[in-house]
Amino acid sequence: MPVNFNCTEFIRSAAAPKDFLRDGLPQLAFAGRSNVGKSSVINRLVNRKNFARVGASPGKTSQINYFLLDQKAYLVDLPGYGYAKVSKAERDRWGRLMEAYFASGLISWGVMIVDARHKPTADDVTMANWFFETGCPLIVAANKLDKLKKSQIEPNLQVIRDTLALRGEDELVPFSAEKGDGKDQLLKLLETAIEQ
Ligand code: GDP
Repeated sequence: MPVNFNCTEFIRSAAAPKDFLRDGLPQLAFAGRSNVGKSSVINRLVNRKNFARVGASPGKTSQINYFLLDQKAYLVDLPGYGYAKVSKAERDRWGRLMEAYFASGLISWGVMIVDARHKPTADDVTMANWFFETGCPLIVAANKLDKLKKSQIEPNLQVIRDTLALRGEDELVPFSAEKGDGKDQLLKLLETAIEQ
């Protein structure tokens, strides 16, 4: 049964483990550095303009947002990381929330958004390792592809693959939330993830 990604609704935010959803539906966890375009990628996937908040003051949201995809799975929007101007208290809150979520066993599939232009940061590598430790498969979307020259694409993807130490089964999808490149490929992978 195909998944209708246009049929997506916001369910709730979780600021503490007691608010995590545990109803058995698959959870696709989306993570990325602040400003990498995670909200824009989500909006592109579900064909909405302001669904996940674009340009929300980076790092200010230490909460997990749940969206229900066609009654079949949750798209779980994890709070962005790596924003320099965040207070220590906020960073600690972020760390506790993420540790609890990653330890919860609730993640079915990881989706990491990185910047196609740059070598992944140390925080990106840490995040990829958190996903590896859960044992779940990982999809990496290399966003902002529209900012690359054609000749830069393959070498940059290789740097991303190597730096994150992606495993054979992980997927790397060149993506542009701005232009729509990679959307069909990513939707197909998510659909497969949901149906497994
Ligand atoms: P988030 O903090 O990761 O949720 O990032 P946002 O979705 O708020 O995007 C951060 C900035 O990057 C915004 O100014 C977006 O317009 C821009 N952006 C996001 N995706 C793309 C893309 O694929 N290409 C380009 N050129 N800009 C993008």
